[in-house]
Amino acid sequence: MVNNYTLIKEIKEYAIDNKVPIMNQEGIDFLTTFIIKHQIKKVLEIGSAIGYSAIMMSLCSPSLKITTIERDETRYLEAVRNVKKLKLEDRITLIFNDALRTKIDDKFDLIFIDAAKAQNIKFFELFEKNLNDGGFIITDNMYFHGLVKKNEKEIKSRNVRGIVRKIKDYIAFLKENDNYNTTIYDIGDGIAVSEKKTRGGV
Ligand code: SAH
Ligand code: MG
Repeated sequence: MVNNYTLIKEIKEYAIDNKVPIMNQEGIDFLTTFIIKHQIKKVLEIGSAIGYSAIMMSLCSPSLKITTIERDETRYLEAVRNVKKLKLEDRITLIFNDALRTKIDDKFDLIFIDAAKAQNIKFFELFEKNLNDGGFIITDNMYFHGLVKKNEKEIKSRNVRGIVRKIKDYIAFLKENDNYNTTIYDIGDGIAVSEKKTRGGV
């Protein structure tokens, strides 16, 4: 009998073999604990890759529904296969598109941003209209493989330096945003949790 444990192990192995940057165990533990603690029912994910984080979120809470967007066709197709294997088609909706060109009308309790790191402000600004009052926006890779904490001079690649700068801009953007309370956790590769303040709240 093939069980969920075996299937998830296979997904993780595929990620390693094909260099797909899925969330690490510490990050997944944080995310799933967060979902249970805050009784999250609907999630919008930007950056499905092969469906791993969406699957892990779905498995932690039996009534959770996820809509997730991926622009890479190979990864999207692998995500479709993985969601089917775990029989989660009813709860995970996969969208094959560039998130920045995707119009979503639904509202969510949690928006998980885990796509192109230089575009975080754009994703945030585009999808915050889809967040319920009191909802959360969680952003992964705030340390960008530890590089955000490094001295910029130590980073050889100009391209990587550019991404690191964009993440720093995003951190400033979150801290200055009065509509949200943001905390960055030293967990996994750095996880930002931005809680939307309720209207008229204190
Ligand atoms: N959340 C996944 C990992 C996502 S990796 C997990 O932890 O299992 C980031 C993914 O975002 C990549 O597959 C990349 O193709 C996708 N991506 C990057 N920019 C995007 C965009 N603008 N729209 C949709 N997907 C995007
Ligand atoms: Mg990530």
